[in-house]
Amino acid sequence: MNLENIIRDVPDFPNKGILFKDITTLLQDGKAFHKALDQMLKNYLDVKIDKVLGIEARGFIFGGAMAYELGCGFIPARKPGKLPYHTIHEQYILEYGSSALEIHDDSIQAHEKVLIVDDLLATGGTALAAAHLAERLGGEVVGMEFLIELGFLRGREKLANYKVNSLITC
Ligand code: AMP
Repeated sequence: MNLENIIRDVPDFPNKGILFKDITTLLQDGKAFHKALDQMLKNYLDVKIDKVLGIEARGFIFGGAMAYELGCGFIPARKPGKLPYHTIHEQYILEYGSSALEIHDDSIQAHEKVLIVDDLLATGGTALAAAHLAERLGGEVVGMEFLIELGFLRGREKLANYKVNSLITC
């Protein structure tokens, strides 16, 4: 089974010129979803992970399942205004404009090992902001795991200080 063929390309979504990688076609195929998770987990089965930090929203799907399998905690990194308690906030630059992520300020204890998970690595700005949030609370980012990497955007270069892994490079 080739996971890349199961992901649907949607041209011009959400904006003209963007080729959107639609993972819902993979999620709705039980065998494909299972295989993707097994492969995303394989580098961490023998690594101490205290928390998986999943990035809103598709990072919750993979990150939540990975945290369950690893027997560790899960932290949702959310868009501003969504989390109910005290948060820390990190702004980052997008191709056009900017965005931000927040986590609860008690979600990571000093020296905890954090694995960052999202569905897709593009320019790397989102994952870098997530790493900064974890580090501001004293966490140690032990890895970043993505299903898909858009290699031509060279997000990996922005994340050169981290151990980055992706299953599918487009
Ligand atoms: P970036 O910060 O540029 O690495 O963007 C990564 C975030 O944007 C991830 O949360 C992705 O889900 C989303 N994203 C960016 N580009 C695409 C794309 N072409 N298809 C699907 N999702 C994307």
